[in-house]
Amino acid sequence: MTRALIVVDVQVDFCEGGALGVDGGNAVAEQVAAFLALQPGYAQVVATRDHHIDPGPHFSDTPDFIDSWPPHCVVGTPGQELHPDLRGVAFGAIFDKGSHEAAYSGFEGSVGGGADGDRLAPWLRDHGITEVDVVGIATDFCVRATALDAAREGFATRVLGGLTAAVHPGGVPAVVEELAAADVEWVSPER
Ligand SMILES: [Zn+2]
Repeated sequence: MTRALIVVDVQVDFCEGGALGVDGGNAVAEQVAAFLALQPGYAQVVATRDHHIDPGPHFSDTPDFIDSWPPHCVVGTPGQELHPDLRGVAFGAIFDKGSHEAAYSGFEGSVGGGADGDRLAPWLRDHGITEVDVVGIATDFCVRATALDAAREGFATRVLGGLTAAVHPGGVPAVVEELAAADVEWVSPER
């Protein structure tokens, strides 16, 4: 099996009670942990994290929740950590993104978040991965961007819709359409 699971941004700040809590975030964390406990047979399981030091206009005191956001996932704060439900997962690697600018796709990140860290696409190829499943938060932002980049990078890509949570749930059908146009398969329910 050459399929990897990419767990996108299941971080404290993106779950209920966090600085940018998404409805359903805690449920996604719990369900992803339960899904992995079933040993679904992925060759690799990796995570991405939003990882902000000074991301410029990505942060705003008057956020529009489209291009600007309340401060979140600031490096060194508890909100930047993975959700407690996922802390027992042995991720093959964790890719941090957005140190100094907005970064929605995990493919923009690197191990450690710096310019010299391993990046997601070559890391997956080095591990023989040809197919990826994407889950996490938020469906309409970082899951969407990560899945589109995965397809662009040549990976056969699916989003397990039941293991995602959206900032704007009403926009999800349009996201599913956009993904389909990019040859990303939306699988729901997830199992
Ligand atoms: Zn961010």
